[in-house]
Amino acid sequence: MAVDTATLHDKLKTFFGYDAFKGDQERIIRHLTSGGNAFVLMPTGGGKSLCYQLPALVMEGTAIVISPLIALMKNQVDAIRGFESGEDGIAHFLNSSLSRIQIQEVQDDLLRGVTKLLYVAPESLTKEENIALLKEIKISFYAVDEAHCISEWGHDFRPEYRKIRSIIDQIQPAPVIALTATATPKVQSDILKNLRIQDAVVFRSSFNRPNLYYEVRDKVEPEKDIIRYIRQNAGKSGIIYCLSRKKVEEMAQMLAINGIKALPYHAGLDAKTRAENQDKFLMEEIDVIVATIAFGMGIDKPDVRFVIHYDIPKSIEGYYQETGRAGRDGKEGHCITYYSYKDIQKLEKFMQGKPVAEQEIGKQLLKETVAYAESSQCRRKLLLNYFGEDYTQDNCGACDNCLHPKARFDGREEMSLVIELIESLKEHFKLEHLASILAGVSNALIKSYKHDELPLFGAGKDHSVRFWAAVIHQGIILHYLDKDIENYGLIYATDEGLEFYLNPHEVMLVEDRTFSEGEDEDDEDSAAAVNGGGGGDPVLLSMLKDLRKDVARKYRVQPWMVFADPALEDMTIVYPLSLKELSEKCQGVGEGKARKYGQPFVDLIAKYVEENEIERPDDFVVKSVAARSGNKVAIIQAIDRKLPLEDIASSKGLEMSDLLTEIESIVATGTRVNLNYYIEEELDPDVVQEIFTWFKEEATSDSLSDAMKALEGDYEEKEIRLVRIKFLCEVVN
Ligand code: ADP
Ligand code: ZN
Repeated sequence: MAVDTATLHDKLKTFFGYDAFKGDQERIIRHLTSGGNAFVLMPTGGGKSLCYQLPALVMEGTAIVISPLIALMKNQVDAIRGFESGEDGIAHFLNSSLSRIQIQEVQDDLLRGVTKLLYVAPESLTKEENIALLKEIKISFYAVDEAHCISEWGHDFRPEYRKIRSIIDQIQPAPVIALTATATPKVQSDILKNLRIQDAVVFRSSFNRPNLYYEVRDKVEPEKDIIRYIRQNAGKSGIIYCLSRKKVEEMAQMLAINGIKALPYHAGLDAKTRAENQDKFLMEEIDVIVATIAFGMGIDKPDVRFVIHYDIPKSIEGYYQETGRAGRDGKEGHCITYYSYKDIQKLEKFMQGKPVAEQEIGKQLLKETVAYAESSQCRRKLLLNYFGEDYTQDNCGACDNCLHPKARFDGREEMSLVIELIESLKEHFKLEHLASILAGVSNALIKSYKHDELPLFGAGKDHSVRFWAAVIHQGIILHYLDKDIENYGLIYATDEGLEFYLNPHEVMLVEDRTFSEGEDEDDEDSAAAVNGGGGGDPVLLSMLKDLRKDVARKYRVQPWMVFADPALEDMTIVYPLSLKELSEKCQGVGEGKARKYGQPFVDLIAKYVEENEIERPDDFVVKSVAARSGNKVAIIQAIDRKLPLEDIASSKGLEMSDLLTEIESIVATGTRVNLNYYIEEELDPDVVQEIFTWFKEEATSDSLSDAMKALEGDYEEKEIRLVRIKFLCEVVN
């Protein structure tokens, strides 16, 4: 049933309210409505859903949409029902969340023929009773959304997806449209084969995201680098991805303690907290969400300005999806990834428990990620090539490698040597195998093939395996070489490559980048090292101490209440010149305190810096999360909600005195907490008054142990500590 142009445009307007089709939508819809199979590759946000929703509404019968995302199904169905001319039963979904009565309703509407679109989860599609039901009605077509789930080589393999073809065969024949936002050529071939739609017309939109900037950074002091980056981009929304829940928690805390509005998101949080944190990010109450990859599915925040990968992702597809959440509105989006080979080894170790076949795939995908990270080529070119798309511009102007290009060399001889080797072998081999032969580095596999006896073994031994790996990888980008789809990872020479071999010409290549080994992640803590105490500028220190005395006198407080010694020491190291720097870079100095006392200090420092022509370090102190404290941010939040301290302690599995220690260390960094709700409830007001006065008039430092010595006997420890916290927050901080 072909549908004419006028009808399609009319429906586009009446159902969806759009004046024009986007990209390939019209061609896809025409193809589907005229009975053809289609394969749609369109980046997220490209408008895939319309490609099956509109045909479903104009074609006879019911369209079956297979989708793994139960939550999104409901949204889509609600959206369609919201159309002006839509009836209630026009769209339905079938999945495990429905009650018996709801299922009955779906069945009735299907049999009455009012339902044009039926969303089903693949698990529900396999159920006998559903198959029986769908046999009874006319199916207009099948849409397989998130079709990459079919392939083990995709980033979200779901075994149920492999059964789709046989179920379609049981129900009744109808055209199939498969849609996905990520598919390497390998995944694409798996999809077409598995759905048996090799005749499908492939509609591929460009995956290029011109507004995204890509960069890979050496993973040296990443925490510090991230804080610096976020401060330079203050107020912008960003996502930081970490691989483990533990790292997510730590990072969120570290950021929060350093004055960045950040919250964690991962599957280990309870649903309520997760939803709250997500909402706060969407509503811009916080700037940064620190997340595992559990975050982002279906999130549609258009103005995410940066996506940072603290850990390298497991595959380039994952990387592309996650970075793709930046700059949805077409404006700026920075994608920064921290890379060290240690992380790769860690990922390999995680894989060890898995079935061998899965490990093999995982390792191969990881290799591609390494090749991407270490490459000195245009990132955009690498990414697009990975998805089977050519990017022909020489310099994209928006990736680290294009902005800081490395010297290139004419690699015609090297490339020829690679092709010569490939052609001299009877079978095809993997990239590292070929690179090792040329570099003359033997291993068990090479010996087993007797490849160490080849004439070309060591023919390029002036260079490393890594060098040759980079040449081969660039050969793939240049289409002289390619990876075999059936035996993924095996390299062969293309016709273009053979032509090059016969008539070699200049081909500019570049060596890979080198990265540091990476730090050991027994994290206690790169930030702690940064913090390390010790000597600053003794002359300035004594000047600051004098100033502190004057200021204390003026405010009628003890000198230590103005700024404690560690804060003064930091000032002599980092030379803060503004109140902002003072609070960001010096321990125990919160914003309030900087505002109250800071001005004469920064004035003095500025004068001192100028007179002595001091070069200030481009450096700051990362306030680190004390070891083992899992809970600081949560505690601050619980206090904000005025929860009794006993409840907070028990929910965190802490003794009261441990909780007080945690709160004390929060306060020591200059953060204020308000415990009055609890103190008023629990302590005798006279006691509070007396201890408070002691701190104000007699204490000579903020030391807890001095206070305990002086006050013990008269008061309980808990009382002294609580009032001390109150005092520090109200008077000192
Ligand atoms: P995808 O599933 O490919 O990520 P969606 O189907 O969710 O993308 O569509 C992305 C956005 O584009 C949605 O906000 C949708 O309403 C909008 N959109 C789709 N088609 C059109 C069109 N023809 N004109 C204008 N906006 C469109
Ligand atoms: Zn580039």
